[in-house]
Parts: sequence; structure tokens; C-alpha cells
Amino acid sequence: MENEQKKNLPQTAPLDPDKMFAELEEKIRRNCHNVDLDRVRAAYEMARSAHAGQLRKDGCSPYVTHCVAAADITVDMGLDEDSIVAALLHDVIEDTALTHADIARSFGTAVADIVEGVTKLTRVQYTSVEDEQMENIRKMLMAMAKDIRVILIKIADRLHNMRTMAYQSTEKQRSKSLETMEIYAPIAHRLGIQRVKWELEDLSLQYLDPAGYREITASLESRMPQLEAFMSAVEGKIQARLDEEGIHATIYSRIKHVYSIYRKMYAQKLDISGIFDLCAFRVIVDTIPDCYNVLGIIHDMFKPVPGRFKDYISTPKPNMYQSVHTTVIGSEGIPFEVQIRTWEMHHTAEYGIAAHWKYKMGESSAVLRAGDEDRFAWVRRLLESQQESDAQDFFHNLKIDMFADEVFVFSPKGDVINLPAGATPIDFAYMIHSDVGNHMVSASVNGRIVTFDYVLQNGDIVEIRTSKSAPGPSRDWLNIAKSGSARTKIKQWYKRERREENVIRGREMLDDELKRNALSLDDVLDEAVMTPILRRLSYSNVEDLYAAIGYGGMTAVRAANRLKDEYARVQKPDKKTTVDKLTEAAERREQAAAKQTGKPIHGVLVAGLDNCLVKFSRCCTPVPGDDIVGFITRGQGVSIHRRDCENYRSSIASPENDGRWISVSWSDHITDSYVTTLTIIAKDRSGLVMDIATVLNSLNAKVRTLSARDNAGTAFTTITLEIKNLAELKYVMSRLSAVPGVSEVMRNGK
Ligand code: MN
Repeated sequence: MENEQKKNLPQTAPLDPDKMFAELEEKIRRNCHNVDLDRVRAAYEMARSAHAGQLRKDGCSPYVTHCVAAADITVDMGLDEDSIVAALLHDVIEDTALTHADIARSFGTAVADIVEGVTKLTRVQYTSVEDEQMENIRKMLMAMAKDIRVILIKIADRLHNMRTMAYQSTEKQRSKSLETMEIYAPIAHRLGIQRVKWELEDLSLQYLDPAGYREITASLESRMPQLEAFMSAVEGKIQARLDEEGIHATIYSRIKHVYSIYRKMYAQKLDISGIFDLCAFRVIVDTIPDCYNVLGIIHDMFKPVPGRFKDYISTPKPNMYQSVHTTVIGSEGIPFEVQIRTWEMHHTAEYGIAAHWKYKMGESSAVLRAGDEDRFAWVRRLLESQQESDAQDFFHNLKIDMFADEVFVFSPKGDVINLPAGATPIDFAYMIHSDVGNHMVSASVNGRIVTFDYVLQNGDIVEIRTSKSAPGPSRDWLNIAKSGSARTKIKQWYKRERREENVIRGREMLDDELKRNALSLDDVLDEAVMTPILRRLSYSNVEDLYAAIGYGGMTAVRAANRLKDEYARVQKPDKKTTVDKLTEAAERREQAAAKQTGKPIHGVLVAGLDNCLVKFSRCCTPVPGDDIVGFITRGQGVSIHRRDCENYRSSIASPENDGRWISVSWSDHITDSYVTTLTIIAKDRSGLVMDIATVLNSLNAKVRTLSARDNAGTAFTTITLEIKNLAELKYVMSRLSAVPGVSEVMRNGK
């Protein structure tokens, strides 16, 4: 095994960094606009002299060749000038005497910050590698990076290290490959950089399961002549048909990447001869309708495999990937996958989020569409906020705020603990275990003692010292702790450990609160007051209630309010408050009114009719305060109209309606809202409807519908809204009349 690996080592002469850099310059000149090559060259020279004397693991190449190679990858990813400069310098803080300040002096703080960010990520140690920790570690890296370019450069760095992993020890090969497979490939996937993800996975597999990797590559190699013949035949067929149909398209074919075949073999427990769809075809077209046209044509040419059609155009993947996928069966009975997409989707699939800023800056096409909001809302916000500024600036503040509400820290053993942003050592301690929190005596972060209100930062290593004789949590901790779970655990401790103290404290707190309400504990300790309240709040005795108030399980305000109400209820009438008296008087009036004319229905009293059906006419939409009349309809109860309603006035004149108009009145107590309709007549102008809506909004009006139409320069806006009474309605109308351009505000039906 060891021998075999040695045999595979590429036998190299030392790489020549100057030659590599010249090639990089050429690539930048060809592919990038607005990159200051002098600045890039200055960065190269700084890196070269800083790393002077250091060698790569091949034992002969200057270390700086790695820096040039990493920068080369960032150019392939489509990153900006600062990224290229930072990639050249990415190892100088870690491995040379240069500092953040040195870099900042020559290249600005943006570049220095990126290099420092990459250095921080490099220093993170993953000592415990458990599956459930992985997602947290990935999130933590992304959160630590702050600027997304830090992550992208770290991925470029890792990709080059994986490409040159052959020179490392077997142990290092395995551990780096595992880390790459579990952390960096998924991050590349999340950022949508498919090509990089595939290469990272294939390189890792090579070291994680060398036998499996060789089996697949050897088998692919032996089939290569057949596969190539097959691919070019299918490509030719599709191309000919699309030409015939007049669709402009570019077709690519490829063998699927090794790890995807490996995973399929593993998942389906097949050997490679059982995996048929080793090839994939890609048809790239100009427009979305063409994507679906091509899909139809492909399904016409080949038999589709049921259940394999996926439309990621209408439903993009979370990483913004879009395409339609289908699997069909060729004439030889061999299934193959076809992916159909536009060029824009293709760039997104290749470059991931980097493609978005490229597009945004290059063309007017809006890259982010509905459906992207969830995960990439932050990208959208950035794109929007950056629209005005130029290309270089765009990168400057590209922060990852995807995890802004979370903070990730380490336990001394290397476990990643995920806490809400703003969390303190208290939250950390209680997250570990409530015993750790309850016995905490001091906390240190990154080896230094901190106060308990220290706000934890991403990547902090937090250590809690405990003691059996610790006094337990202080009440202040309830204000310091950020997480609900820590506060709950602190309260539980108080509930359990400090009953006597809680009883005394709770009694005082309740007494204070009652005094604020002109009562005292003596007033409410009367059995008639206290017993029903204890029962309702589920306490078996008054001490339990005090204790609950003492540890914070019940607020003194809530308990005092209950007791106050109960006290008022059981007191003699002469102790009644003014409000009580007024309420009773109103109830008596209501009862008297109901006796005379029946119960009010929807706030309307109908003379001589009890429990009749009442509805409000749609023609004039009356509200309380309007002078109203009722019309006895056939089978639909009494319809209420305004006395000034057109329909009423024309109907009353007709003899056939004789006796069907009856008198009705509004009840004194109306709590309902009423729907009414207004029409606003105004000179049409832009912003009119917006101004009307703003007025309604400022009045807190409950608008149900609002529609506008225009007739020869006059705008008619119709609003239905909920209103309490005529006074409120008149106020709304007067405010609407004041909107510039409005000539009249009318109620409907008049
Ligand atoms: Mn490096």
C-alpha cells in the first residue's frame, strides 16, 4: 500500500513560482475586468519574500507555489481583485512574521481582514468528529467567516491542498480527507459551487476508500471507448433534432463524477456493472421556454423513465440551483440523465453565489427570483443594498448573516455548543448541564477569566469551573442569561432550593403590589377572597403562592389583580367602585329596553319583533348614528336602510309595500363594527391611491376592499371599511376629503 502510493507520486522537478504567477497573470488578463495587475503582482512579491525558504511537502517546490495555485482557483471561481490578493497572502499571518497591520498597510484593511479570517478558520481544531456536530461546525465556520470571501478562499486553499495531498503522510491524508468530505464539500454545495464540490469529493474518496476509488476509475477506464462512442452518438442525435426544430442549443456530455457513482453503488448495494447511468448530458439553451421545448423533444426521442423527471426551474434548490432533469432510455437500452438549463442557470450551477454578483454587475437580468428568499434573503438584501455602488465595493461588506442569531462556541473537549447570539457563560454552563450552571464559580474564555456577563463570540473556547460548595445561581443571572432554557433552570433551582426565602420574598412582593392598589394582605387573606383564587391558580395553600411569586413562577401583579377583583366582588354594595355602579346601571337600562322592544340584534332594536333576522342593506350600508328604517323582506327577515336611502324613498311611494316599512332603532350598547362603503371622487394623479391608503392606515381604519377606476381623468375610488359609528365615519370622510385632488367623498346609496 505504502509502496503503491509512492509509485503514484507525480515525479516533479521543483515548481517554478514565477512561471506559475506569469500564467496566473495571463489568465487574469484574459478573464477578469477591472483587476489591477500591479497590485496582484505586489501581493505575489510580498508572499514570495515572506515565505522565502519554506518548501511544500513535495520537498522541493517553494511554498509560495501553493499561494499562487490558491489564487488561481479563486480566479476560476470568478472572485474579485481583493480575493485574488488575499488568496496570494492567505498563509502569511499563520506561517510567516507578517501581521494584519503589515498587510493592511500595503493592501488595505479589507484584504488584511480576509487573510485574518482565513487564518482563524485554519486554526479551528475539530477534535470531536461526531455526525451531529458536523452541521454545527459548518455553520460555525460560515458564521466565523463573516465575509463570504473568507470561506471561498479557504475552500480554494483546501482544494489545492487536496490536489497535492499525495505528499502527506497516510494519517494526514485520511484526516484531511474526512474533514474535506464532512465539512468543506457540504459548504461548497451549500454555496452552489458544484464543480469544486465534485472535485473535493473525488479527491477525498481517493484517500478514504482507495480500493473503492480504484475499482470505479479502472472500470470507467476500461469502458471508456464504449462510453465515449455512446455519448457522441447521443449528442449528435440530439443536436441534429434540435437544429431541425430551430432551437439554438449547446450540448455537453460527461461521465458522472466518481463519488456520485460510489454513493449510488453503496446506497443501492450494486457493483459498478449494475449502475447504468454513468453518463450525463447537459443541454444549455437561451430561454426558459426553450428548456421546456427541449424537454418535450427529448421525451419524444427517447423513452422517459417514470418518476425521474424533476423541475428545479419552477422550484429551485435551496442553493439556487435551477435546471430540469429527466432520465431517459437510449436505443441500446442504456438509461442516461439529461439536464436542461439556460446559460444563466448554468453559471449559477458552476460558480454558485459568485455567479450572482457577476450577473448583477454585468447585466440587468435579475438573478434572484421568488423562492430564493428563504435561505438567500441575505444575498438579496445585499444585492439590493449594493445596487448603487460599484463592483469593487460590492464585495467589501458581503457578510454572512445567515446565522446572525446564533453563536457557536467550543467546550474544552472540542464539542461545538450552539447558543443564541448574545449568550453568556451562564447560558453555556446551563446548556452543558443544570448542575454545571448551579455550581458554577467562575468562567474562562480562551484561557482568560471573564465576568459572567461576557458576550460569547463565535469560536470561543469556554471553560466553566464548578465547586460543590458553590452558593448557587444569583438572582441577577436571570437578567444576564440570554436563553430561555437557562432562565428556566435558574428558576427551577430557586423553586427547589430556596423555599423559605421564596415564601418571605413572595409575601413581601405581593404585599407591595397590593398596597399599590390601595389594599393590604389582611384584606385578601380573608378566606372568601383567597380560597377561590388559590383554587383557580392551582395552589394548595397560600405559602405555595408566596413561594411561586418569590422564585418568579407567578408575577406579583397577576396574583394581586386576581385578588383585587375577587375582593371587590365579595364586598358589600357600598364598597362598589364607580365603574361597577355605572356598569350595573347600563345593564338595567338594557334589560328595560329589551323588555319593551325585544333583544337588540346586531345592535338594532325592532319594534314589536323578537329574535327576527336582521341584515344591513348593501345599497346604503347604515352605521350606528344613522337614522334608520326596517323593511320586512320575504323570508329574509328585516333589512335595515338609512332613512335617506334612495331605495327607501322610491319604495315607500309604492302601494304594494304598504305596511312593510317598520320603525327600528339602534341599541344603546353597540360593540360590533359595521361594514360601510364610500366612494371618493378625485382628479386622477399618480400616487392618489397611495395617499388614500396612507390616510386610512394612519386612522387605523379596517379596510376590507379598495378599488379604483379612472374615467376621463377622474378617479373613482371605492372603499369598504369597518366602522363603529357615524361619528367615526364622518371623521374618516373629513380626513379623506383633505387628500390633495379629492373633490368629494360620498357614502353609497344616496
Ligand atoms: Mn494554505
